[in-house]
Amino acid sequence: MQEHYDLCVIGGGPAGEKGAAQAAYFGKKVCLIERAAKPGGAAVNTGTIPSKTLRETALYFSGLRQRGMYGVDYRVKSDLTVGDFMYRERAVVESAWQHIEHNLERHRITRIQGQAHFTGPGTVAVMRFKEAPREITADVFLLATGSRPTHPSDVPFDGRVVVDSDDVLSLSAIPRRLVVIGGGVIGCEYAGIFAALGVRVTLVNAKERLLMQLDADLSDALRQEMTRRLGIQVILDSGVTAIRVDGDLATVTLTDSREVVADCVLYCAGREGNAQELGLAAAGVRTNDRGFVLVDTHFRTPNPRIYAAGDLIGFPALASTAMEQARVAMCHAFDLKYKTAVSNVLPYGVWTVPEIATVGLGEDDARGQGIKVEIGKAWFRDNPRGQIIGDTEGFVKLVFRVSDQTIIGASVVGEGACELIHIPAAVIQLGGTLDYFIQCVFNYPTLSDAFKYAAYDGLQRLQKRVSAAMEPRSHTPLATRGATPPGTSPATPAAPGTA
Ligand SMILES: Cc1cc2nc3c(=O)[nH]c(=O)nc-3n(C[C@H](O)[C@H](O)[C@H](O)COP(=O)(O)OP(=O)(O)OC[C@H]3O[C@@H](n4cnc5c(N)ncnc54)[C@H](O)[C@@H]3O)c2cc1C
Repeated sequence: MQEHYDLCVIGGGPAGEKGAAQAAYFGKKVCLIERAAKPGGAAVNTGTIPSKTLRETALYFSGLRQRGMYGVDYRVKSDLTVGDFMYRERAVVESAWQHIEHNLERHRITRIQGQAHFTGPGTVAVMRFKEAPREITADVFLLATGSRPTHPSDVPFDGRVVVDSDDVLSLSAIPRRLVVIGGGVIGCEYAGIFAALGVRVTLVNAKERLLMQLDADLSDALRQEMTRRLGIQVILDSGVTAIRVDGDLATVTLTDSREVVADCVLYCAGREGNAQELGLAAAGVRTNDRGFVLVDTHFRTPNPRIYAAGDLIGFPALASTAMEQARVAMCHAFDLKYKTAVSNVLPYGVWTVPEIATVGLGEDDARGQGIKVEIGKAWFRDNPRGQIIGDTEGFVKLVFRVSDQTIIGASVVGEGACELIHIPAAVIQLGGTLDYFIQCVFNYPTLSDAFKYAAYDGLQRLQKRVSAAMEPRSHTPLATRGATPPGTSPATPAAPGTA
């Protein structure tokens, strides 16, 4: 028997759930096919929520946030078991399942469990155990099958000693020594989590910096904190030539022939789209060589009835954007005029230790594009809230155009970075300038207040530029910092100094 829907969604992660809910909210008859027993995809089951919960758990058990603050020497709870470590993760994941299931029910979305693949341009077959395939037709399809860790053939994954970011959640014991291969977001996050628990972590990265997409000062701050505070051995600019497993131990050979021995190797160097089993050729949908589906600006594939969103289309591969892409795609598919595009001001959060977040253009990228920019920076160590909570290494940074002081980017390193970043994100979205931060009153004492001081710093840097331009050949030092009168850049109203 054939079933027909207005919309058939394949994949029950963030993109699938939100795309389905968006169409159902506007009265469409929607089904959602998910092969796993529980919804939520990588975000709930293997990625975002588990890793963020484990980070909190690790910080709690290690007392890392408090270390050095009260004259008490905090140590990792000595008899910590995997059960202790995973307890909170289970509770949070179960609550996320309930929340999604409630959302799907509330929108009267038909849930179908099974593995879906196209049998024609408008027909999908759903396979479940030994049951006969269920045939679904629909006016519109949304592909939201996400991504999976890349498994190079020369890496001996066994789910026990050599694991990927999915398997790491089911380790039977916390390793004593861990090698993390890959200095991207997932590698850096897990390196920090395990190091906080007292595991001896070595992080190997093929590139010369961690998190290459960040400004160099952010990436350096992360490396320093990982090394100094967490004791992680960070090896940059080095490939891995072999991974060998002998019993319960792995030996990782680096390009310079050095060997690192560990109880566990976490390989997280790349992901690929879950497209192979979808039978996309039958539907006229194309992918690139990493299995990512090709779409236009409306998230539409070459088959105008089939849309794709989330990790399956590649960059930026975040739960936050996956949801919004799917909503926008469904508004286009059903001509809902409710949303027309995903905002181009996308916050980007990395839950390393320390936390890092960015939005808009980075300083290095802006300069690389030839945009004349200046920055303003303020350190948490100069902020009373930073002192209270013991975050003395964190900072906020604003990137703005010299010509009109419009904020075009911002970043935060340190406690609460991924929350704080939404303040400059809103200012960028609304086309604001440094003046927003100068005029705004922030609660005191808060880390948010650091943005005001970053704006003052930006004005002072502008003033220095003006002074330098006026006296190009003078070797007279600029006025001593403390005595410098308030900034008076021609482009700015009299700057208020940093009182
Ligand atoms: C360790 C880790 C940490 C992360 N941290 C963050 C973070 O902090 N913030 C953030 O925004 N993002 C984070 N992400 C990324 C985030 O998890 C993904 O961007 C997000 O889950 C993508 O959502 P999606 O709906 O596109 O795909 P997924 O969440 O992968 O969901 C796809 C679903 O499709 C199902 N499926 C696949 N094929 C089929 C089929 N043929 N038939 C039926 N069902 C199928 C799968 O079972 C799965 O449930 C992290 C990812 C990882 C791995």
